[in-house]
This record gives sequence, structure tokens and C-alpha cells, in this order.
Amino acid sequence: MNIRSLFLEHLAQTSTAPVALHIVRAEGTYLIDADEKKYLDIIGGISVCNVGHGNKAVIDAIKKQSEAYLHIMVYGELIQTPQVAYAQMLTEHLPSSLQSVYFTNSGAEAVEGAIKLARRTTGRTDIIACQHSYHGSTTGALSLLGDEYWRNAFRPLMPGVWHYEYNSPELIEAINERTACVVIETVQAEAGVRLPEQDWMNRLRQKCDATGTLLVLDEIQCGFGRTGTLWGFEQYGIVPDILLLGKALGGGMPLGAFISSKERMMALTDNPVLGHITTFGGHPVSCAAGMAAFQYLLQEKIVESVASKSELWVSLLKHPKIKSVRSKGLLLAVALENAEAALHTLSRCKEEGLFSDWFLFAADCIRIAPPLTISEKEIREACAILLRCL
Ligand code: PLP
Repeated sequence: MNIRSLFLEHLAQTSTAPVALHIVRAEGTYLIDADEKKYLDIIGGISVCNVGHGNKAVIDAIKKQSEAYLHIMVYGELIQTPQVAYAQMLTEHLPSSLQSVYFTNSGAEAVEGAIKLARRTTGRTDIIACQHSYHGSTTGALSLLGDEYWRNAFRPLMPGVWHYEYNSPELIEAINERTACVVIETVQAEAGVRLPEQDWMNRLRQKCDATGTLLVLDEIQCGFGRTGTLWGFEQYGIVPDILLLGKALGGGMPLGAFISSKERMMALTDNPVLGHITTFGGHPVSCAAGMAAFQYLLQEKIVESVASKSELWVSLLKHPKIKSVRSKGLLLAVALENAEAALHTLSRCKEEGLFSDWFLFAADCIRIAPPLTISEKEIREACAILLRCL
């Protein structure tokens, strides 16, 4: 049996039509398949590979930490230098109310941790989330997901979750003294890059303060410079009570985090003790890799280049078949006439050596979320292929 058949036979599948390219190497902004065909990667593992594939600083950090130790003990008991160093570095770049980091294995687990923390510290149960939001596939995170098609098959889900449109006054009005937290993406990614309105963000923050509700911002996809600033919330002048990170946090290794104040986080230590535990969360190799990626991002001033690269994409993506381009930094949604057109174009692009995908709640759009290290030349090349395939 060839590897494709083995892949289909022995790996649980997530759809009936996986992309199924057999990638054997990845370098910079390129994926290379078993036939040595190169694909320009404009999806970056879905906003994970911000500092490019095979980044030497990240690989060196992984090697060094692997030689020191891999797993030694469940999260939270022993002092592990990579966890401490990374938490310190992250908090140096966050507001003073976000100084305590709980590392998890994934984004969804960070969401689960935040749900528990919000309920535990407010003593309330209700949660407000948005339509067309994605927060992960575990049962709690799935309960927050804003689309009935994806939720319904897995009911009963977590009770007490109420969904409202992003940017809607109804969402603000619904926040009350029973609401433990509001969970939103700072920029809605799977909705096909939807941005919050400044006024709505202000009112959201104010209403949360007035009702004692925690504001949880999910920056799992839009954090680490993707929007043009290190954190998306910086652009809206508000600070969340709990920040969720994942994806690029691990520099290509699995890692998530929920971050809040020390005082709030202490609620997970007592009554019950070990109120939230994980074996592998904050794996030392993931923390070492993530920290190396974060250092690279800052030292090379990569975030500073995001706005101009974004403008270049938008200026080049002009074609009668493109209905619109929605963008926030290097997160772009190229809207075509319908989902069929997007799928057809993506398949043509793959043939021509350009790799991307669609969005969960915007199937008519092509996703652009490349490594932030993508060069101007590569952006021009990607746009030329995309326009040709249209
Ligand atoms: N939140 C957002 C905004 C995401 O985009 C994702 C994953 O795509 C998640 C949470 C879940 O992260 P993970 O797949 O690591 O569980």
C-alpha cells in the first residue's frame, strides 16, 4: 500500500476530502512534497508558523532543551526553566493585569481553562459568545462555537451559553449580573476576517466592568503580530481580564495559554486544590521553541513589517472575480462568488504550487495567513499564481 492509502486507512479523518499532500520538508515559506514539488505556503499551518518553517533559532532551542530534559513531571509541580523564562518574557510584553500564565497543550484547552477560571472567580455560570466564532473542538469550547451546524451533532453541550452577533448592541445588552464572562475573538478569523468596531469594543469593556463580568479575548489565531501589533487588543485600547493564546505561541510546537492576574489565577490552587491540572501543558520543549520564536519575532522586528506586507497583498489582489478582500494585517480573506469558486481556485492553486485553504464560516473565501516572515517577492509570486488561477 502506498502512503496515501495508509493515511486514509489508518489515520482518523476529519473530512471526506483531505488535501492529502505528502509533505516531507518545510523551509521558510515553502512546503516540499515527496516528489520535490515546492508549494508556497500562504496559510502557515493556520496562523502557527509566524517565524517561517525550519527557523534555525527555534530548531536550536528544541535541540538544546531536548538534550536537557523532555517531560519530567506534570505541570505546576517542578520548576522548569523554559516555562518560567517564557512566562516571564510574555508577561513583560503584556499589561500589568495579565501577569500569570497557565500553559496548556492547545488553544481549546486554554479556552476550557478560561471558562473554569471565570466561573470559579465570579461564582456565576452564564457565558456569552458570538455567532460565527471558533474557539476549539473540545466540548466546552464547542459550546461557545457560533454555528449550529457544527454544534448540533454533539448535543447536549455545556448549558448557559448564549450567542449573539459580533458587533451587535444585543450582545452588550445581554450582559448582566449572571454573566460569568464574555468570550470573543479580538478579530474573528473563521468568520472570514471580521473586525470589531471600536465603539462596540469600548461598550463591551464598560458593560463587563459595570456588571462584574470577565472579558475573555481569544487571540489564539490573531495574536503574536498577525494583526500588525503584537496583540490585537492593543489596537482597540482595551485590556481583557483573561487572554487566550495558542498556535504561534509554541513556535510550531503544541502550546496554549490562558493568562490573567495573579490574584484571579490563585483561585485554581485551592478548594479544590489541583482545580485545573494537565500532564503535558507547558511542555518544556514547546516552551523553549515558543520563546525562541517570540525572541526572533521581536529581534528581527517582524511585526513592524506586517502592515506594509498586508497593504501589498491588498493592492495586488485585484481581479473581476474577487468580490472583496477583508484584512487585518497578515490575516486576509479573499471573497469569491461562492464556495465552489473558492474550492476550485484552491485546487488550481495547489496544482500551480500555492497552498492555502478556506474558512470554516466563510467557505466562499480564500484564506491568507502566511508566515509573517514572507518576503515581498514571495507575496508578488503568490498573488501572480492566485490571479492566474482565478
Ligand atoms: N480559538 C481560535 C480563534 C482558533 O482559531 C482555534 C483553532 O483554530 C482555537 C481557538 C482552538 O485551538 P486548538 O486547535 O489549538 O485547540
